[in-house]
Amino acid sequence: MRKIINHMPFSSPPYMNDVLPYPSPGNNWLHSGRWRWVEYRFRRVCRCYGYREIRTPILELTDLFVRSVGEGTDIVSKEMFNLVDRGGRRLSLKPEGTAPVVRAIIEHELLAAHPLLKLYYIGQTFRNERGQKGRYRQHQQLGVEAFGSADPALDAEVIELAVRFFREIGITDQQLQINSVGCPNCRPAYREGLKKWVKPFLSEMCGDCKTRYEVNPLRMLDCKVPHDVEILSGAPKLLDWLCEDCREHFNSLRRHLEAMSVPYQIAPQLVRGFDYYTKTAFEITSGVLGSQNALGGGGRYDGLVEDCGGPATPGIGFGLGMERCLIAMESLGIEIEPEDEAPTVFLVALGESARSAAVRLLTEIRSAGIAADMDYVGKGLKAQMRLADKLKAPLVLLIGENELKGGVVSFRNMQTSQQEMIPQGEVIRRIQSWAKN
Ligand code: AMP
Repeated sequence: MRKIINHMPFSSPPYMNDVLPYPSPGNNWLHSGRWRWVEYRFRRVCRCYGYREIRTPILELTDLFVRSVGEGTDIVSKEMFNLVDRGGRRLSLKPEGTAPVVRAIIEHELLAAHPLLKLYYIGQTFRNERGQKGRYRQHQQLGVEAFGSADPALDAEVIELAVRFFREIGITDQQLQINSVGCPNCRPAYREGLKKWVKPFLSEMCGDCKTRYEVNPLRMLDCKVPHDVEILSGAPKLLDWLCEDCREHFNSLRRHLEAMSVPYQIAPQLVRGFDYYTKTAFEITSGVLGSQNALGGGGRYDGLVEDCGGPATPGIGFGLGMERCLIAMESLGIEIEPEDEAPTVFLVALGESARSAAVRLLTEIRSAGIAADMDYVGKGLKAQMRLADKLKAPLVLLIGENELKGGVVSFRNMQTSQQEMIPQGEVIRRIQSWAKN
C-alpha cells in the first residue's frame, strides 16, 4: 500500500510543472512521452528546413537581457529570476531564447564560417509572471533563429515553418497575425505621433500604460485592460507610418506567404514584448487556448547582433510555447501514440539460483539492445507476473528450478498466452524473430 503523506513539506515552486513518466487523468499533457513526441516533430521539421540545434546555458549575465530585450520591457523590469554568483556577477535565468543564441554565435564567431546561419533550440524559459493555466513561471520554448539575410523570403520561411509544425502536431485551429513594427528610421516618428494622439486620454488609462507612455510607448498597444484597448483601437497605425524600405519588406512578405498558401491576418496593433524587433512581427494564436491564446510569436531583429557586440547582421526568429502546444492538443482531443516505453521482455525467476541465471540473461538481452526488465520487489510467481502485466511486457521469460536444470527458459507470449520451452542460447534470436513479425 502507498503511504499517504499528510503534511508534505515540499511542492514544486509556484507555477512550475513536473513532467511525469505516466499520464495522469486531467493532466495528460504533463506526460513526458507527449513532450518527447512533440519535440521529435519539432526537430524533424527543423531538419527539413535546414536548421541545426544550438544549446545555451540556462543562465546568462543579466546585462545581456537588459541590453537586448530592453530595460523598459515588462520581462526585464519585473519578470526575471535574478541571482548573484559568488564572484559577484549578476545572472538571470533565461527569460527568452533569442539573446542567448545571439551571444553564443558572436562568442563562437559562427557567422564568419556560416554567413547564413539557421539554428533551432528547445529550452527552458523563466518569467516571474502571475501564473494561471497556460502561463507558468518556467515554460519551455521551441525556437528558431536565422541570421545573415534581410530577404523577406526568409521571414516567410520562418513563419511557414512554425505554421507547418503546428499542423504536424495536429493543431489545425491556428491563426497567424502579422505586422511590421518599423525600423529605427520610421519608428521614432510613429512613437511621437502615438504619444501625441494618446495624451488626451492618458489620465483615463491604467497605471502600466502611464509608465509605458514615458518608457516604451509602443507597448501601450499591447495593453489588455478593456478600457485601454477601446481607447487604443482608434490610435494611429504603425503600418501607415512605415518608411519605403519597411513597407516594401512587409508587402513582399505578404506576397511570399500568399505564394506559400499560408493564411494570415494583418494585426496593426501587434507589438511584441521585446525592444529588439524591427520590421516583421508575428504571432500565432489558437481559439482553443482561452485567455492565454498565443501559441508562439517572433519577428525580425536586424539590429540585435550589432547591439550585442557582433558584426551588423540581420536576423529573424520565433519562440513557441511547449505547454501551450500540449494544452491545445488536449483541448482539440488529438490522440497521439507516445513512444512505447514498455519492456519487450520481462523475466520471472523462481528461487535464488534461478534468480542469478535471470540476472545474467537480463544483461545479455539488454546488451542486444532489447528492452528488458525484472521484478526487484515481488518474490512469488504471482507478484512477478502481476508486474509483467502492469508493465505491458508482450513477452515473459520464466526460469524456475526445472528450467535451470535443463538449460532452458519458458518463453511466454502474453498476447496469445502460448508458452514453450526454449534453450537459453536461443532466447535472443527468438525475441528478435518475434519482434520482426
Ligand atoms: P514570447 O516570446 O513572450 O512571445 O513567448 C513565446 C511563446 O512562449 C508564447 O507565444 C507562448 O506560447 C509561450 N509563453 C510565453 N510566456 C509563457 C508563460 N509564462 N507560460 C507558458 N508559455 C509561455
